[in-house]
Amino acid sequence: MSEIWPRRPRLVAGNWKMHRTSAEGAALSGEIAALVRGQKACAVALCPPFPAIEAVGRSLRDSGIHLGAQNMHPEPQGAFTGEVSGSMLRGAGCRFVILGHSERRHGMGETDDVVARKLRAALRDGLTAIVCVGETLSEREGGQTAEVLVRQVRTAYDGLPPGTARQTVIAYEPVWAIGTGRVATPEQASEAHRVIRATLDRVVGAGTGAEVALLYGGSVNPGNAPALFAEDEVDGALVGGASLEAASFWRIVAAAS
Ligand code: PEP
Repeated sequence: MSEIWPRRPRLVAGNWKMHRTSAEGAALSGEIAALVRGQKACAVALCPPFPAIEAVGRSLRDSGIHLGAQNMHPEPQGAFTGEVSGSMLRGAGCRFVILGHSERRHGMGETDDVVARKLRAALRDGLTAIVCVGETLSEREGGQTAEVLVRQVRTAYDGLPPGTARQTVIAYEPVWAIGTGRVATPEQASEAHRVIRATLDRVVGAGTGAEVALLYGGSVNPGNAPALFAEDEVDGALVGGASLEAASFWRIVAAAS
């Protein structure tokens, strides 16, 4: 990656999922850019659907807001109908890529091993990966939250050199909080983030956990963001629904700044 990613940066990233055409995306990102312009305390990224990436990238030019994608294939090219590679995303102007979102893990059978391969490919292609991890409701109720987080982080990061791991971001996204309106408490988010940082220390090397930015994701909105960002453990947010409306996304960015 050409740019140096600072130690544990603040970051708010919008995941538009399968919403907005390229024309709609250009309009929304233009509105967001007008609000966010000049704000430097927190990095901001927008991750539109693939067809909108180039139009959104054009509307974000010179805004300081980064462009991201929601997924990529681990291979650099080949006969993989319907897929896109990291180098294609880089070529389209992306800096970030979301990997292992729960809607892909649970809805499209994406395994821990596939996420690990994608992470290596993203690093190879110069993208900053936002690696999503998180437990389901039944796993939380069964007392397995820490076990799930350790497994997901270990599989993704095992064997990565510390300097490389530091160039990534992890989003803790409890599956039961995504798109449900049910947000984790700041204490639950912090507790999960501590598990993730301790796992990075064990798997990658001592001190790594303190250097990787950890986002919380799951029904973040302008009302609950300030309490989440007040936690030392929470470095920012991955925002779904509330990133589809410029004013609400801006209020979340302002709360993180
Ligand atoms: C997400 O898509 O990553 C997400 C956190 O969605 P929402 O904010 O809508 O819960």
